[in-house]
Order: sequence, then structure tokens, then C-alpha cells
Amino acid sequence: MKTYLRDLKAFWVLDSRSNPTVEVWAFIQRNGSFYSGSFIVPSGASTGEFEALELRDQDKEFHGKGVKKAMQSVNYIRDHLVNTVVDDLFLFDNKLIELDGTENKGRLGANAILGVSVAVSKALANSYNLPFFKFLTLLTGSKDYYLPVPFMNIINGGVHADNDLDFQEFMICPVYFDTFDEALRAGSEIYNHLKKILKNDGHNVSVGDEGGFAPHLSTPFQACDYIMKAIENAGYLDKVFIALDVAASSMFDNQQKLYKYQGNLINSNELSKIYDELISKYPIISIEDPFAEEDWESWISFTQKYSERINIVGDDLFVTNLKRLNKGIKLKAANSILIKLNQIGTLTETIRAILLAKDNGFISIISHRSGETEDNTISHIATNLGYCIKTGAPARSERNSKYNELRRIQEFYNIPFINDKVLNKFIPSSSTIK
Ligand code: PGA
Ligand code: ZN
Repeated sequence: MKTYLRDLKAFWVLDSRSNPTVEVWAFIQRNGSFYSGSFIVPSGASTGEFEALELRDQDKEFHGKGVKKAMQSVNYIRDHLVNTVVDDLFLFDNKLIELDGTENKGRLGANAILGVSVAVSKALANSYNLPFFKFLTLLTGSKDYYLPVPFMNIINGGVHADNDLDFQEFMICPVYFDTFDEALRAGSEIYNHLKKILKNDGHNVSVGDEGGFAPHLSTPFQACDYIMKAIENAGYLDKVFIALDVAASSMFDNQQKLYKYQGNLINSNELSKIYDELISKYPIISIEDPFAEEDWESWISFTQKYSERINIVGDDLFVTNLKRLNKGIKLKAANSILIKLNQIGTLTETIRAILLAKDNGFISIISHRSGETEDNTISHIATNLGYCIKTGAPARSERNSKYNELRRIQEFYNIPFINDKVLNKFIPSSSTIK
């Protein structure tokens, strides 16, 4: 029995930065019954140069960030694809890609296309009465469901905060716990300990875009010291580790080919030395975007040095793009990939990237964007295919909506926590933790 697309509806809603974004609803029919599914598209601030294009109106409404054009694109897709069979989502996404006809989805906009792609897939999941993480098995073949290790961004810097920290994200990773809820509890307790410590030292405890604190610190060492103190005060030393997202493309001066760091310009060797020092001083298990998106050579030598010890994660480097990931695999330029649906613009291309990563021993970290909403679809993708999820601090509802959905998946489906079984090789043995 075939399933047909019967209608699409798009409208704008507000995201966590008070920018509009598109919400798409898909209505499908099989055997006389109708089903629906919806998705709200997130939006980045430190976007990679090679990401698929997010269509914005660039007119006087919403400071140019309106999404009327993206809504029109969804109507255009509806006009061309209504009554299409949607049972094979790989085929359906290909139709979306063809309809757009550009390399970067620039004609219809990756926000419009992704909205349709995910909304249709969620409608299909609903038609089978399956939770989305189980439905995804039809696309991924993966039945090994695990709740991912949460990477919680508790100190915000870079373009996500109004402070002097050059690195964008300082995250905690609660790994050595038996269950996801214990890991999440540890994250929440550490977050609140950090708040107390910062306050006691006279720091501002207002938060950045992803819910982490944005104190006026200036070096990554200070930020890591505070985080270590919070982990210690919460009683979780040796169980919780640190991950960084440097987002180095945002620090890169394209003309001089140097990195801005604490008001100076430094080269990639000098930046590497800072990482050496950080890695030797703190239990760091993951560094995302340590270098700019076209500085492949620095990525390669860093990976040569550290690939057995830490997650080296390509976000702006790979932009969830199969071609760039393939290049990275060939060049051994990283060992992990950050996965963001709207960097590439369809669900099945995202899944292909995760599967390619998996086949090559890369860890996938399923990620939110800094501009988010209550949509929690990524929690399901992480449960089906991801080892880790990066979705901000355990605070602010657009971040907690993802963590709380994972709690529901744990409570209703009794899915185990992935913890050290998979991350084993990246966890420093306790003897190396100071
Ligand atoms: P973005 O930040 O959503 O602003 O790109 C998240 C990240 O860089 O990982
Ligand atoms: Zn990043």
C-alpha cells in the first residue's frame, strides 16, 4: 500500500534568539487514513562557509531575517510534489534536491527543504505508530538504540556570548554513569555548582545563547579551572570530562591566515601549543573545530598526534556534507563529525553522513544549533545513530527539550546509556587525570 503526500503547510515561529524560523507540517495519506508530522528548523550563528544556504528575506521585517521566501519555497514544493509517493524517503529527498537544482540548496533554501524532508519523515513515523528513533531504523538499518552521552555547554564564549573568551564552547561530558538520567543529573548539579562558584567570585551569571554562563573570563584555562572546580564540588571528578568547541573558523583572519587569540594574531602552531597545554592539564576528551575550515594541514597534523586520545570533531570542517567528510576520511583530518541537519538540508543526506562516518570509525555527535526551538527531533536521531548529543547547557527550555525527550525515551522504552562502552578509547585513564 502506497503513502501519498497530500499537503504541506509552512509558517513562521520564533526561535530562542527571537528570530523567525520555519515550521513545516506534512500531511500524508495511506489506505484511506491521514497522518501528519512537523518540524521546526533551527538556525546557527557560527555557520560554516560550506553550509547549505539558509534562505532569509533580507527585507525590512525582522532585521532582514524573515522567512517569507522560505515559506513560499515550501508552497512551491507542495505545488510540484503533492500526490507524490513518499514511502521511500531517499527517493523523496532526491526529488527535493532536484527541484532545487543547486549545489548548496540556494534556490529554495535549505531551511525550506529540510523542513519538508523531516516533516514528511515524521508523518511517516506517525503513520506506522512508531516513535521516531525506531522509525529511523527503516532508513539506517540500526537497531542498536542507545541514549547518547550529553555534551553540555556550560560556559559560552565566541560569537555566542558577549565576553572575551575566544573559544566558543566549554562543555562537560558525564560519561561514567550507568544510566542517562544519572548523567543528566550530574550535568545539572555541576551547572548549579558552577553558578555558585562564579557568583562567589563576583562574576556575572547571565547566560549565553546556548544556556551556559558567559562570565567575563578571558582565557580557556580560566574557564576550564572553573569547570574543574564545579565538577569537584559536585563530587564527580573522574566521571565527568571536558569537551571544547573552539569554532576556530570564527577566530580566523582570512587575509593574514592567522588566528585571533586574546587580542593577538597567532599561527596554527602556536594555537596547537595552547591545545597541548590544555590537554595535558585537564581531562579533555573532545575538541571541535580546533582549526579553520580550510586549514586542512593543521587538522591533519593534530589528528596524527591526538587521534588515539581525543575526539577531534569536524563541524565547520565537514558541515555534515558527504563530499567534505569523504575528503576528511581520506586525509585523516579528524576522527569525529558534528552532525547538524540544516548544514546539509535533508534528513537522508544527514543519515548518509552518519553512516559513512560510522563505517570509517568516526564518532557522530548529533547537534542542535545556537538558535533553537522546542523541537526535539535530534534526540531521536541521537538515540538511533549517535553516540553523543550536543545540545547546550542543561538549562533553558529549548535546550532541555532535547534532554527531556531523551528522559522520556529512557522511561518509556528502557533504552540503555551508551557511556564508556563506545567512548572508551577517548577516556583518559584515571592515572592521567590530574
Ligand atoms: P552554531 O553553533 O549553531 O551557532 O553554528 C554551534 C556550533 O558551532 O557547534
Ligand atoms: Zn561547532
